[in-house]
Amino acid sequence: MIARSGPCRVRPVLDGKAALTLAFEPQPPVLANVEGGLRFPVRRLFCVGRNYADHAREMGADPDREPPFFFTAWAETVVTGDATIAYPPMTGNYHYEAELVVAIGKAGRNIPAHTAMDHVYGYAAGLDMTRRDLQAEAKAKGRPWDTAKNVEQSKPLGVIRPAGPGFDPARGNIRLTVNKAVRQEADLADLIWPVADVIAHLSGLYRIEPGDLIYTGTPAGVGAVNPGDVMTASIDGLAPLSITVGDPAKD
Ligand code: MN
Repeated sequence: MIARSGPCRVRPVLDGKAALTLAFEPQPPVLANVEGGLRFPVRRLFCVGRNYADHAREMGADPDREPPFFFTAWAETVVTGDATIAYPPMTGNYHYEAELVVAIGKAGRNIPAHTAMDHVYGYAAGLDMTRRDLQAEAKAKGRPWDTAKNVEQSKPLGVIRPAGPGFDPARGNIRLTVNKAVRQEADLADLIWPVADVIAHLSGLYRIEPGDLIYTGTPAGVGAVNPGDVMTASIDGLAPLSITVGDPAKD
C-alpha cells in the first residue's frame, strides 16, 4: 500500500513571511473529488493513445506493432463533477473518449511493472474529449496533437476511488452512452497495455509524481457530440460521470 500523509488543508503558496510580491494571484490547484470527501490535487495529465485494439483499428492503426505512446494535457483541462462543458472553438467534430483514469499517489522513475501498482492512489472514470478534425489534420501533416487534445474543459473526471479491494483495474465493463444510447462498450481486460505496464513505460519517460493522472485510452466507438448532448461514462465499481455539452464559451 502507498503511504498517505493524510488530509491537509489547502493553504496559500506564500504566507505572510514571504518577501515576494506576486504580479497577480496564482491559480489555485485543480482539485479532484475522492470518495469520502478528500480532494486530490491534480498535477499533470498523461494520456495513452491507442490502448484498445478495436479503437486502434478504427483510427487506421495496427494495434499489434505499437508500444504505448503518450500525450499530455494541462491540469486545468480537468472538470470535476457532473458538469456542463463548453463546446470548443475551431472544431466541427468534437469527440468523446471514455477512459479509465489512474491517479498517481507515489513518485517514481523507471518503475518495474511488478511494483507499479504500489504507485496508484486510485481510479476514476474520465473523458478525453478530442477535436478530431484537428487531430486528423495534425496526423496527416506530422504535427503535434496539442490543439486537438489539450483543450479547455476537455478532460472531465469522475470521483476517484482509492485503490483497494472492490475494484480491479484488470477487468470490468467500461461504457459510454450519449443521450442514454450506448456508443462505447468494452472490458478493461481488453487494454493492450494494462495499468502496470502503462506506469512502467511512462515512468521511463518521466519521474511520475503524486497528483499525476493517467488517462489510459479509449475503446472503439468514438464519435461526435453537439451542444445539448449528455455523455455518461461508466466503469464497473467506479462512480459514473455524466457530462453535458454546452454552447460555445462566450468569454
Ligand atoms: Mn484518449
